[in-house]
Amino acid sequence: MPDKRVLVSRRPGRERHGWVFSNEVRRTEGEPGTGETVLVLDRGRLVGSGLYKANSLICVRLYSDKAEELDERLLAERLAAAERYRAARLPGETDYRLCYGESDGLPGLVIDRYGPCCVVQAYSAGFDQRLGLVASVLAERFGAVGVYEQDDFRLRDVEGVPRRSGLLAGRLPDGLAIAEAGARFVVDVAGGQKTGFYFDQRVTRSRCRARARGRRVLDVCCYSGGFAVNAALGGAERVRAVDSSAPALELARANAALNGVGDRCEFVAADAFDFLADARPEFDLVCLDPPSFAPGARERMRGLRGFRKLNALALGALAPGGVLVTCSCSHHLSWSDLAGALAAAASDAGRDLVVLETVTQGPDHPVLLAMPETEYLRCFVLQAK
Ligand code: SAH
Repeated sequence: MPDKRVLVSRRPGRERHGWVFSNEVRRTEGEPGTGETVLVLDRGRLVGSGLYKANSLICVRLYSDKAEELDERLLAERLAAAERYRAARLPGETDYRLCYGESDGLPGLVIDRYGPCCVVQAYSAGFDQRLGLVASVLAERFGAVGVYEQDDFRLRDVEGVPRRSGLLAGRLPDGLAIAEAGARFVVDVAGGQKTGFYFDQRVTRSRCRARARGRRVLDVCCYSGGFAVNAALGGAERVRAVDSSAPALELARANAALNGVGDRCEFVAADAFDFLADARPEFDLVCLDPPSFAPGARERMRGLRGFRKLNALALGALAPGGVLVTCSCSHHLSWSDLAGALAAAASDAGRDLVVLETVTQGPDHPVLLAMPETEYLRCFVLQAK
């Protein structure tokens, strides 16, 4: 059990939020160091156990509402629960996000499972120090033949831990490929983006597949062809897919071929804004999945302007009656922010839009209601007049 203590005073409504902010801390006892486990008490009442980080906005990340150590037993228990949850929500799937940090009770730890291999990321200093333990639990109890660390991203700088990537255990097979609802994708763990595949867009990809029959489809910011391949599998007449990254397009071409739809897919290297500015209204289904327009709260207004501009341009590529699937992956842009920006984009383009449905991150990225920060992916499926 942790023996160092952090005494806090939290506002009503924040009792079960997984982060203790430094302005909620009244006192620390026992001089905890970064990454150490601590007990958190609020005016004498136990809040739980967490990972401590000195001199940081997020001072403690809670992993339990009990007094207990974050040891091998607890880690294995949490991962087993996470695995059961995925098995229930994604029956038949073997490739998914196995651990989504705070939502799975393991704050700052992300694990993507690519069949027999796992890719791990540590967003917290606490888990940065425990990746050896994570790798050994994955190898010994979850049958991972390879565990790869992909920790080369900006938030590591904020957390004060060095960027790095490399193998932690075992090995990765050449030509690693996964399946999602029967579609297959080659994954480049070491050279690709993020951990290699954007599992979060699983549901949106299924919607693209369902709406593609007989359509002329445009996939903007296609990465390894997730939307494009699904649209083609759903019976699209033809698919054009655009990305600014040459390695991404190479993967996308390989994935179209792997799924036997290469003859109906065309991949174009271009900047999304430039491509759309020149496009004619010849597509019946346009998908937009750009990187985050607002990685931080400070970028919110600028992000909304970018989102509005991209969507107004996309409407210029959409035939009358066509469907626009448009996505935002920033927690800081709310549903109503995005709806407002889309209304403005429609007005810029002189079109009317009807909301057919909204889609959010897949079930392997569970949203914890006590922590709104766990929701970030927001997609609108719109019909243009
Ligand atoms: N829909 C994809 C994921 C897209 S990730 C899937 O299902 O897997 C976002 C992609 O946008 C990345 O591949 C990135 O290379 C691309 N991108 C970023 N900026 C871009 C730009 N200005 N123009 C075109 N593509 C861009």
